[in-house]
Amino acid sequence: MHLAEGIRKHGFRKWYERELLQSHAHLALTFVCGIGVAASMELAFKSRGLSDGLPDWAAVALCAAVGIWALRRYLYLLSHAEAVANQADCPHCKAYGRLTLVKGDAGGDRVRVGCRRCGHEWHIDA
Ligand SMILES: [Zn+2]
Repeated sequence: MHLAEGIRKHGFRKWYERELLQSHAHLALTFVCGIGVAASMELAFKSRGLSDGLPDWAAVALCAAVGIWALRRYLYLLSHAEAVANQADCPHCKAYGRLTLVKGDAGGDRVRVGCRRCGHEWHIDA
């Protein structure tokens, strides 16, 4: 979910929490895919001949591809959430995460936010 849309719908803290949960769900998927690769390789090594082991090797390739995708997605979501969270301090009163959306770009990559405590406005680059 884009930053502007997330802040508008849920508020900054809920958006951040959702990003972290989503990223860690991808980490769990990476772990499951690792188990899938190990199990499929064990079956593939026990198979007799290429035609017997081909589905097992296909499962190894599929689990590896999904695992790599999930790991990349985990790292992207986590680094994106942390980069935004590092900009969530109000430059004026140092309140963390107490912000409202003032203006968001169409793509949601650069948003103008305002502090709920003091009203100061600043930009967050996603
Ligand atoms: Zn403030």
